[in-house]
Amino acid sequence: MNFLALKDLRVTTQREVIIDTVFSTEEHFTAEQLLEWARKRDNSVSRATVYRTLPLLTESGLVHEMDFGKPYKFYDPNYSDHPNHNHIICDDCEKIVEFESDKIDQLEEKIGGDLGFTVTSKHVQLTASCDKLKRSGSCKNKPV
Ligand SMILES: [Zn+2]
Ligand SMILES: [Zn+2]
Repeated sequence: MNFLALKDLRVTTQREVIIDTVFSTEEHFTAEQLLEWARKRDNSVSRATVYRTLPLLTESGLVHEMDFGKPYKFYDPNYSDHPNHNHIICDDCEKIVEFESDKIDQLEEKIGGDLGFTVTSKHVQLTASCDKLKRSGSCKNKPV
């Protein structure tokens, strides 16, 4: 809300609903998922407002945008709480799991150091097949 005020943007009811929705989930989401959740709270939330609000949240640094090479982006609502976590995504159902790894952290520091750099930010994104996909050839929880 402070960020919106700084940017001279009005906190409209729609925006407030969207922001409340974003920060009441721990899940990673797409713009369409966010729209669906926000509309459960307030049916008047428009798709356009969701798509206009997301870049503001990304710019504020509170929400982290992720590109897994899909036609749409994913958003991470709890990024500012633990900015060092990594992600693995199922190529089929798009389930996203977070992980942290000291070994990866150390390796990245070493690679950076060896090349004369100090690593300041990093994002490891793995695309994979979840157990369900491996067993049955598809994920039942695949989004439509
Ligand atoms: Zn995450
Ligand atoms: Zn899957």
